[in-house]
Amino acid sequence: MKKQKGYGKFHINRVYRDLIDYSDEGICYFNAQGNCILANEEAKRILAPLEEPYGAEEVLTYIGWAEAEGENPRRCKVHFGGTDYHYVVEYREIRRQNKSVASYLKMRDYTEEMAVIETDRYAITHDSFTGLLSREGFFERVDEKLAQGADGVWMMLCSNIKDFKVVNKILGNTVGDKILLEEARLLKNMVRRDSIYGRIIDDKFALFVRKEYFREEIVKSVLEKMQGTMRNNMYRMHVHVGIYEMNNGPEKAQDMYNKAKIAMDAISGNYHQIFSYYNSVLMERQLSEMRFMTEFERALDERQFVIYLQAHTSFNGRADGAEALVRWKHPEKGILPPARFISILEDSGQIRQLDQYVWEEAVRLLRDWKDRGYEEYYISVNVSIKDILYRDMYEVFTNLVETYEVNPARLHIEITETVLIVDMDKIISLIKRLRAYGFVVMIDDFGTGYSSFYLLRNIEADVLKIDMEFLQKQNDNDIEKNYKEIVLRTVIQIARELSMDVIAEGVETEEQARLLVGLGCRRFQGYYFHRPESVDEFEKKYFRM
Ligand code: C2E
Ligand code: CA
Ligand code: CA
Repeated sequence: MKKQKGYGKFHINRVYRDLIDYSDEGICYFNAQGNCILANEEAKRILAPLEEPYGAEEVLTYIGWAEAEGENPRRCKVHFGGTDYHYVVEYREIRRQNKSVASYLKMRDYTEEMAVIETDRYAITHDSFTGLLSREGFFERVDEKLAQGADGVWMMLCSNIKDFKVVNKILGNTVGDKILLEEARLLKNMVRRDSIYGRIIDDKFALFVRKEYFREEIVKSVLEKMQGTMRNNMYRMHVHVGIYEMNNGPEKAQDMYNKAKIAMDAISGNYHQIFSYYNSVLMERQLSEMRFMTEFERALDERQFVIYLQAHTSFNGRADGAEALVRWKHPEKGILPPARFISILEDSGQIRQLDQYVWEEAVRLLRDWKDRGYEEYYISVNVSIKDILYRDMYEVFTNLVETYEVNPARLHIEITETVLIVDMDKIISLIKRLRAYGFVVMIDDFGTGYSSFYLLRNIEADVLKIDMEFLQKQNDNDIEKNYKEIVLRTVIQIARELSMDVIAEGVETEEQARLLVGLGCRRFQGYYFHRPESVDEFEKKYFRM
């Protein structure tokens, strides 16, 4: 029995020995004097730069035990021969009666895992397309900088190319890519040593810069260079820059970026403005927009939205139909025009709910008119890009007219020109199906978009609504006026040749109206004829005629 036990012990020692020798951890065993009396192959590999026999002190110094992170084990980093090596190191003393009698080290090499982690980290913190910092990398770097106590006043800038999605559509992705790379290159060349910059998403770049290094003129000249790259095209690029000045000490990078973006978004429709600075008014506006969004759901439930009708008339003022324009009858603020809420709802996606509501109101009204014997009047409704992208419009509209048993020819659908560009093929086929079913399709705001003439060749619609906005500038010189008239005349002619009807919209003066009649336009919508009015007013005015 005893003999057997001894035999077993021999084996057990062998097993221990093998376990140590072939362990994938480096193991060193030191005696009371701190001399290494056992080191396995892996330990020898790790400690190759040292000479044997190792001393405990010497090994701990080499491995960087004192500076390493963690309790025990610790994460140690060794820089040797131009490379960083990473080890998880455990160091234990064996004590008998309060005296250290021996100690050992276990070292696990995770240099390769670290390389993978660092590559992944690089992929997360960098934008593979431009090589700049990514959103994560940029925010992380700015936060780090501020944590290290960056002194002085700093500015957070963000930029955005106006209608970049449309640019991609019209000029193609290759051109879009070229613009982005050029912007990244110019940004890289422009900045001073201290600054941090990156690409946040799509065409949105960000720059964190000391205030004293920032000059509007420099940024402006860079943007002009960028416009220059596009000179051969018909399209003129606009870039907006939002700026937040960090005046009250460090803030989170993400918060500062959001503020710069609020400032930038405030420019939105303005083609001449480049820079916009964040201030508390903008903040207030943003907050009230957010309140609006929550208020919206309730308002919709309580049917606070109503449609107004603006007549489509002949020159003598006779109406054959009207456009439904939504108004918010706000319990405290009174009647709010769409400019106050449509774009907010478009951004939040809630426009789909509102449009559905408005269309249904319009179709119900058509049904009501039908029942009362006024079936000859039509109503046109507006469609937003979000509607087209996220739902089957054909199904929505056919369902509505079937539910209310209304003649589809009385429902006219206004689709704006800019919407068409976003997904041309899809929208061309949608328009085909809608017309085949019997709806009338109008192209809205024709002339305010990008590639009007190109569009005309491809889209078959019933009516072209020409926006008079570009006739409205008062102080034009004669040449300019002449030119605009030529464009107008051409559009009306082309429309006629393509068997499309034309409605001139936004007609404000008799002079404009006469000019349009002279050019061959027969249908009008504008303040000169009629303003948008409540359904009641509309009925009183026209249903007696
Ligand atoms: P829009 O579709 O171009 O509608 C015409 C706008 O021009 C209306 O403004 C109308 O009141 C205004 N207008 C009409 N005649 C004249 C004129 O002679 N001079 C001037 N300066 N303006 C004139 P409104 O009602 O404020 O609507 C603004 C925009 O809001 C509409 O432009 C349309 O894009 C959008 N909108 C209105 N209702 C809806 C809706 O139910 N759904 C969606 N998605 N958008 C809507
Ligand atoms: Ca419209
Ligand atoms: Ca319009």
